[in-house]
Amino acid sequence: MTAGKLFVVSAPSGAGKTTLLKRVMAKIPGLSFSVSHTTRSPRPGEKNGIDYHFITQAEFLEMIDHGLFLEHAVVHGNLYGTSQAAIDRQRMAGVDVILDIDVQGASIVRRSRQLEATHIFISPPSLRELEKRLRGRGTESEEMIALRLANARSELQAVNEYEYLVINDQLEETIDLLSSIIVAERARAHRFPSGQPIGDIITS
Ligand code: 5GP
Repeated sequence: MTAGKLFVVSAPSGAGKTTLLKRVMAKIPGLSFSVSHTTRSPRPGEKNGIDYHFITQAEFLEMIDHGLFLEHAVVHGNLYGTSQAAIDRQRMAGVDVILDIDVQGASIVRRSRQLEATHIFISPPSLRELEKRLRGRGTESEEMIALRLANARSELQAVNEYEYLVINDQLEETIDLLSSIIVAERARAHRFPSGQPIGDIITS
């Protein structure tokens, strides 16, 4: 079986990435989501083990010490990391994995030469629109909104390091665009758009 592909998706907080990824994953078979570890507190409605593995700072530092992260970074004052073993398990099962990670994490993955990934940046149409969305979410304090906006400004500088830029203006159009990128990348890897490796069919 061919190992699954990796898709690294980064976006400033509030760009609509979570909604977008959920919709794209419901539409395209053979895609799975990498559930990160974080020291951030859960937001209302978030579930442990589904949205994130919510752990303490001590537990996170222990995982770093044991070399369990493919990448990790401090984002908006909290620790976030991707478990290497979880990614390996998903890829060995032949499914493609989406890493929803920030620009620092994406840069670490890019530099790790044994891992090939497609890097996609999702941008809001403007910073003004981003601010509107962050406020509309109603889950962040003023201080957190200011921090996330400041971070967005610097994250947008990293856009040229990504292979694809997807501007999330109209949700339905953006879903189509992101889905097309994933399907096209699969074809490049000699896969059927369903995600099934061509080799499996030819040799069966
Ligand atoms: P949020 O707290 O809003 O869910 O996520 C904040 C930021 O952390 C987002 O940019 C998200 O992509 C990033 N993030 C989530 N998981 C990881 C991870 O495992 N590693 C890194 N580097 N960033 C992550």
